[in-house]
Amino acid sequence: MEPFSTTESQAGASQEWAKSPSPDNIIILAQDLWKTYDMEAIQVNALCGVTFSIVRGEYVAIMGPSGSGKSTLMNLIGCLDRPTSGAVIVQSRNLAEMTPLELARYRRQTVGMVFQAFNLLPRMTLEENVELPMRLAEVSRPERAARVREALERVHLEKRLTHRPGELSGGEQQRASLARALVNRPQILLADEPTGNLDSSTSDEILHLLREINQSLGVTMVMVTHERRLAEQFADRIAVMSDGKLTSDGAEA
Ligand code: ADP
Repeated sequence: MEPFSTTESQAGASQEWAKSPSPDNIIILAQDLWKTYDMEAIQVNALCGVTFSIVRGEYVAIMGPSGSGKSTLMNLIGCLDRPTSGAVIVQSRNLAEMTPLELARYRRQTVGMVFQAFNLLPRMTLEENVELPMRLAEVSRPERAARVREALERVHLEKRLTHRPGELSGGEQQRASLARALVNRPQILLADEPTGNLDSSTSDEILHLLREINQSLGVTMVMVTHERRLAEQFADRIAVMSDGKLTSDGAEA
């Protein structure tokens, strides 16, 4: 199979209907999500009843002050953590009802994640870093090599295969972590402050790239950011959180 080709042509053909908010097109549904952390003396309510839906192919930015629950919400969607109550439904499947095998596949293949810290392994080359998620997914060696090259081409790093993370700029490292997140061809990309460690022109470049990936591959993008200017420029809508609640879902009234 030609890498990404199927997804790409589907995305192109489906761009128009993809973002219409009919229930069939909802890819992520958070239903009355609560998350309470039990500390020694107190309980912290990180999420207090968040209900939120995202349509296939959308690019949604989530904004809000520090501590408002943005990362907690992202972690629940990525299934890095479980809600105290409520449900996360992705592609019509409740994550809480998945078997361990289905969950492993979900984390590996349905969602890709990038964070503020690039989390690349310093002793590995870029090629090895990007290949890593596919080793876990048991993709054959020739297929792995083709996909690594293609993912690095997509983020314009194809000439840096043998470099180690320490030999790259911050923007290049974030592009590499983006390639690693894309290599298993996820339908959803979760980006938690992907530009938090970058200067403003590099931030522009990364968000531009996220937009390009969203449009050309049809990958649904959910991004936490503090940068309103960039969110307004690149995202389809901006949801706002405050004190564990969604105060606006950014949809037009
Ligand atoms: P944001 O991403 O908007 O900065 P977070 O989702 O990280 O917010 O945090 C929301 C609230 O939950 C904060 O008050 C934070 O201190 C608390 N919190 C987050 N993670 C944990 C944890 N593992 N244990 C205890 N409290 C936590």
